[in-house]
Amino acid sequence: MSPATPTPTLTGNRGLHIEEPLIFEQGHPDKCGVDLPEPADKPDRLGGLARSGPIGLPGLSEPEVVRHYTRLSQKNYAIDSGFYPLGSCTMKHNPRLNERLARLPGFADLHPFQPEATVQGALAVMHRLSAWLLGLTGMEAVALSPGAGAHGELCGMQAIRAALDARGDDGRRVVLVPDSAHGTNPATAALCGFRVRGIPGDARGRVDLAAFKAALDDGVAGVMLTNPNTCGLFETDILALSEAVHAAGAYFYLDGANFNAIVGRVKIADLGVDAMHINLHKTFSTPHGGGGPGAGPTVLSPALAPFAPLPYVVHDGAGYRLVEHVEGNARPFGRMKGFHGQFGVFVRALAYIMSMGRDGLHRASGDAVLNANYLLARLGEALTPSFEGPCMHEALFDDRFLKGTGVSTLDFAKAMLDEGFHPMTMYFPLVVHGAMLMEPTETESRDSLDAFCDAVLALAAKAKAGDAAFFTHAPRHTPRRRLDETRAARHPVLRWEPPAPTRAAE
Ligand SMILES: *Cc1c(COP(=O)(O)O)cnc(C)c1O
Repeated sequence: MSPATPTPTLTGNRGLHIEEPLIFEQGHPDKCGVDLPEPADKPDRLGGLARSGPIGLPGLSEPEVVRHYTRLSQKNYAIDSGFYPLGSCTMKHNPRLNERLARLPGFADLHPFQPEATVQGALAVMHRLSAWLLGLTGMEAVALSPGAGAHGELCGMQAIRAALDARGDDGRRVVLVPDSAHGTNPATAALCGFRVRGIPGDARGRVDLAAFKAALDDGVAGVMLTNPNTCGLFETDILALSEAVHAAGAYFYLDGANFNAIVGRVKIADLGVDAMHINLHKTFSTPHGGGGPGAGPTVLSPALAPFAPLPYVVHDGAGYRLVEHVEGNARPFGRMKGFHGQFGVFVRALAYIMSMGRDGLHRASGDAVLNANYLLARLGEALTPSFEGPCMHEALFDDRFLKGTGVSTLDFAKAMLDEGFHPMTMYFPLVVHGAMLMEPTETESRDSLDAFCDAVLALAAKAKAGDAAFFTHAPRHTPRRRLDETRAARHPVLRWEPPAPTRAAE
């Protein structure tokens, strides 16, 4: 056995990290967690459709079930268990106050088909959240229903399509997407039937304005730009970009997933934006990333507002009303969801916004930028920052500092796992080699940032000292070590198959 491999235990458990078989492997179909009396022999009312044999559901006792799910939950790294500097993800603390409010029975126990008169409070929450989102962005209308950031992009691009169709402009088939864009941007444009044309970045990590202007013609429907961009930088030419887009008769989509860096400081409408999604689950807290659902409300300019999808909430003399059908001059392009959106996320986001207040949100974006620059300054001494100057909410490094060490960005990230830190975003954005993108958010204390920096600096020193094996054998202490990620992606095993003898008995 190689010295890099820790001694296996007799059970396969490692300390209190317990190997957890699937619930199907643990349970027995003939076991039941509760004692129920045998049913009296009454004729069934299933018209002969009663099951003729067992269906093989696993039977376990209540404590076995509780342990199974508790152990599974412990395998899920979360912002509640440690520092989570995943770039472009805004993994910030989710205040427990939000959870408390979302669990109030008047919110948690609603049914989407309840009569309007009985859900006035819930509609008021949606109306008030809409007002905050419009106030913070200066935009004209908001669609609350998109279920995540990518779904919000779909909403905005559908509104752009509808606006082009309404003016009879069907020759515009191209959407410009900068090379540093999040992968969801080109995917969304393609899903809406547009052709994607990439725009290169310049040496400062921003969109190349000259290349951008050269690509604009009357075949362009719109542009999808992220600001601050995925290099963690503010697009300083954004006004010139939006003017050029509009002069060419196209629409300006802003990917607002990184709104956390500028909320309370930049009025989105002033940038000439036509549509932008807001990731409630990033900027306005609420658990995500395996911890909960998202919500991607999309704000629209006056040019796109008439095409906003159904439903939306209005308030008039009779109270709050959910508009489900075409009314007045509106020309909704359709619906994004069966019901009204991720209501539980709306409650959490509104609770967060109202407990912070306008001044608190302004302070939070300032602290988010400060924390990222703290990482950039401390780590910049040993790692290689990709671009000059201060960053916004996230700090981007590349792998030049690992040159000649035999250690890759991936190896470095695996060694961070052993040290108890969730790695940063790796190999994204694609515009720099071996990217390491770190977003600390405003909710980390200086002590937790220092603990992280100390660990990363110690690892960088070890790599530069020539101890490549330390990295290439990492992680050593995690429940699983290096996985065959390509195989997992190409041949995912999504279904449990019973072992042969059980199947034969069915
Ligand atoms: C997170 C993110 C998205 C996608 O948001 P989801 O809620 O994950 O769909 C899009 N763009 C950027 C820049 C992001 O960071």
